[in-house]
Order: sequence, then C-alpha cells, then structure tokens
Amino acid sequence: MENIKHKILVLSGKGGVGKSTIAVNLAAWLSMQGKNVGLLDIDIHGPSVPKLLNLNNKGLHADGDKIKPVSYSDTLEVMSVGFLLQEESSALIWRGPMKHNVIKQFVTDVSWSNLDYLVVDCPPGTGDEPLSIVQLLDNPDGAVVVTTPQQLSVVDVKKCITFCRQLNLPVLGVIENMSGFICPHCNKRTDIFKSNGGEQLTSDFNVPFLGSIPLNADLVNACDSGEPFVLSNNHNLTTQALKNAFEPLTISITQTQINKEA
Ligand code: ADP
Repeated sequence: MENIKHKILVLSGKGGVGKSTIAVNLAAWLSMQGKNVGLLDIDIHGPSVPKLLNLNNKGLHADGDKIKPVSYSDTLEVMSVGFLLQEESSALIWRGPMKHNVIKQFVTDVSWSNLDYLVVDCPPGTGDEPLSIVQLLDNPDGAVVVTTPQQLSVVDVKKCITFCRQLNLPVLGVIENMSGFICPHCNKRTDIFKSNGGEQLTSDFNVPFLGSIPLNADLVNACDSGEPFVLSNNHNLTTQALKNAFEPLTISITQTQINKEA
C-alpha cells in the first residue's frame, strides 16, 4: 500500500444508483489523465467491474508469491472477486470473516504497481466490506458518495455520510446520478427520479457537491458493452458531466496533500 499515493472509496447507500458505473468511469478518466490507476472491486456478492470493462473472461495469474492484477490498459489495472468466479452466474455465499479475508488479500497479496490512485468500488450500504476496506487501507484519502435524486436514495446516503464520519473518512463529495433525462426527440427535460435531492443533502451535511450526471441510454449501452463512457468519443452532456464531477475531486485531493506536506 505504500506504493499507492491516493486511495478513493466509492460508496452508495443503495444499489442500482450507478456506483460501479461512476467508479469505473472515475478510474478510466484518471488513467486518461496519464495517471497510474488501480481499480479494486470489493463487491463480493455482485462484482460488476469485470463486466463494465469487458474483462469477464480474464483469469487470475500468480506473480511470484502474489496475485497479478488484470490489465485493462497500460495505466489501468483491476482486481475483482469476479475474476475468481467460474461463470457469470456463480455466486459466493460468504459470511463477514471470509469477506474480510479476501479483501485483505486484495490489499496485501496483489502485486499492484506504483499507483497514483487506487479507486475502490464498494458494495452498497455500510456493512462488512466498506468497514473492512477502511480498516485495511492505510489512511485512505476519502469517499465519493453516489446517490440518485429521490428521497428513497438520499435517506440512505445520509447513513453513508454518518458511516464516514464515525470512521474519520473524509467525504470527498457527493455525485447525484440519474439526474434528469433529456428526451433525444423533443429535447425536453424530465426529472424521472426528481431533482436536487443529492445537492440539497450536501448543503445540509456540509460536504462538497461534485455534480449531477443525467440519465442517458447511451451510457447503459456503453456499460453493457464494457466500455467506460468517459473514454468514448461521444462528446455529450453526460461525458462532460462526468468529467466536471471528477475534476474538482483530484484538485481537492492534491490540495489536501500539499497542505499535509506544508
Ligand atoms: P450500482 O453499482 O449502484 O449498483 P451500476 O453502476 O451497476 O449501479 O448501475 C446500474 C445500472 O444503471 C446499469 O445498468 C448502468 O448502466 C445504469 N446507469 C448508471 N448510471 C446511469 C446514467 N447516468 N444513465 C443511465 N443509466 C445509468
């Protein structure tokens, strides 16, 4: 872990809000900036990262007495419990201590390169996995919390922020995903999951708001075909919104490091 400069957790209160999508796009965007990036998927029961990067059929290989992470590109390497499964439909039925042990192995027994950033995709909620990773990572920089705008999701994000505060994990910011849909036919905006719930929450809890990402059918297709949308040549509101949300994050991490070193 001493070879990894910055560690960012991606959390959400609920499943299905786009947390893995944000984690994968954040990692891909950072690697596009010329950074060396690792993406660690600790969603033991529903690992999405191999599918989102079209790495489903990759097996794991030994690297001396360690496990070699799977390369997505020269600057993005990946580890996921999904690489251990025989088939897409296989399930791991594990209790907390087993999950803790595998997460510990992903941290200590993987031959991660010298990384500028390690992005960790956690399962939704405040259970065993996020607790284990916060304890195992040496001083993570903080968490990005993903929500959708409606109250049903926002209520659970409040729990995530409380979790971070209890573990002294800085909240780097909240991203409001699936925020508004622009009809490609009439250009009219519809707030399918309402609007501004995430932004309102950040002012109530005094944490940074990183931005809103619209609903976009092309993003779903990119996810299903295993291509990080942020890398596509498709310049649209959604790719721009993703970049706008990620930029302040790296600026605040760099600033915090400068302050620490001063
Ligand atoms: P989580 O990790 O929170 O469970 P996922 O990242 O797996 O959520 O996303 C759930 C589904 O929502 C996926 O099919 C993904 O393609 C889709 N999705 C995520 N963000 C958006 C968005 N902004 N617009 C449209 N679909 C999205």
